[in-house]
Amino acid sequence: MSSYQKEQAETLNMVYRHLRTISVQERQRLLSQISDYLLFRDTVDAFLGEHFDNICTQKCYQSNLSACCSRESIITFFGDVVVNVLVSNETEINALAMVLKKRNDGFKCIYLGDHGCMWRIKPIICEMFLCDPAKASVFKEKPLTNKLWIELKEREKHYRWPDRPVLFDDLEKYFMAVGYSSPLMYLNNSPGLLRVKELAGKSNQK
Ligand code: SF4
Repeated sequence: MSSYQKEQAETLNMVYRHLRTISVQERQRLLSQISDYLLFRDTVDAFLGEHFDNICTQKCYQSNLSACCSRESIITFFGDVVVNVLVSNETEINALAMVLKKRNDGFKCIYLGDHGCMWRIKPIICEMFLCDPAKASVFKEKPLTNKLWIELKEREKHYRWPDRPVLFDDLEKYFMAVGYSSPLMYLNNSPGLLRVKELAGKSNQK
C-alpha cells in the first residue's frame, strides 16, 4: 500500500467510524449542513452533462484514455471524504476501503473502477477539472458556456477556499474538535491555505 493509499484509507476509516457513532439527529444536522453544497454539485453535474458529456465520452472514455483520471494521487480534501461518507451506503464505503488495499499497478487513479469513479460524490478537484482540449472545443462552439463555467468555478471557492468561512473548513474543525487529525485536513495544515486565512483575517480587520 502506498503512503497515498494509507492516508486515504486511514481518513476514510476514521470518518466512517466516527459518523457511525453519532446520533440520528446529529447526522441529519450534518446532512443539512452539506445540502447547499450537494445542490451546487447537482448544478455542476447538470452543466457537465449538458455540455461536456459528448466530447468527454468520444474523445476520452471510448478511447480508454480517461485522461482526467490518469493521475495516480489525486488531491482529496478531508471535506470531500466527509461529504462522500455521509451520502454513501456501506457497500460503497467497503468498496473504497477494499480498493485502497490493492496495489495500484496502472497509471490511473486508484478510485477508477470498471464503471467510472467509485466515489458517489467525487472529489471537488476532479469535478471541477476540464482539460484544455475539451474546454477549447466547447467554449468555441458555445461561448456562453465559458461564462457559466467561470461562475461555477467562482461558486466552488465558497465551499473550499478559506478566504471566508467555508464548508470544508467547518467539516475539518468539526472532526478536530473531537480529537481527530488527518493529513487531508489541508485547510488547517497546508501552509499555503493557512496563509490565505491569515491574509483574509487581516483584510477583514481593516
Ligand atoms: S477520484 Fe474519481 S474522478 Fe477523481 S481521478 Fe479518481 S477516479 Fe477520477
